[in-house]
Amino acid sequence: FVGSNADFLKGVVAMNGLPADDRIEVCFAGRSNVGKSSLINALTGRKGLARASNTPGRTQEINFFTLTESHYLVDLPGYGFANAPLAVVEKWQRLLKQYLQGRVGLRRAFVLIDSRHGVKDVDEEIMSLLDSAAVTFQVVMTKADKVKEKDRAKIMDQVRSKLSKHPAAFPEIVLTSSEKGDGIPTLRALIANLI
Ligand code: GDP
Repeated sequence: FVGSNADFLKGVVAMNGLPADDRIEVCFAGRSNVGKSSLINALTGRKGLARASNTPGRTQEINFFTLTESHYLVDLPGYGFANAPLAVVEKWQRLLKQYLQGRVGLRRAFVLIDSRHGVKDVDEEIMSLLDSAAVTFQVVMTKADKVKEKDRAKIMDQVRSKLSKHPAAFPEIVLTSSEKGDGIPTLRALIANLI
């Protein structure tokens, strides 16, 4: 039921804009361009639901999507812009921290990692934030279709070794391609089980 009933609710730029914390939710985090919008669109079966190709100025919102009457899917702003102004980064970090620490209904965070690049320092910063907020997170590898199988093993080893240092990390990694549809049913089932 993660499917086509999903709809955009609102974009939030400050804590006081958050919808009431009275639903169960899962959230998605990832570096900009990791393929987060494409994944959310593939998951919900609604092309164009999450805006693809965000620009730096438009990424500071936490976007809430309704999955059902009692469930949200939450799209956290993409991070890791090379040339984002410090003030923007700090504002984003503050909002993110407040959201993660305060959200009772939040069941799990999905941290998206590009299959070609593995875990970068900015990803680890998010993972540490999730550790300290005690939010269980699970890694979703994106763009699997872009990596040859023999190169994939090396990246996955790197990801596993990074995850082993994070107490809030869920060990199972989900490999996906929004382009080809690989892993999408698995991820849908996972979310359905959580909510
Ligand atoms: P976001 O910034 O994280 O929301 O990333 P987008 O969803 O906008 O994707 C960034 C770019 O990667 C776009 O050009 C997408 O078409 C491309 N992309 C996303 N997912 C996949 C995938 O699974 N396979 C391939 N080959 N390209 C993808």
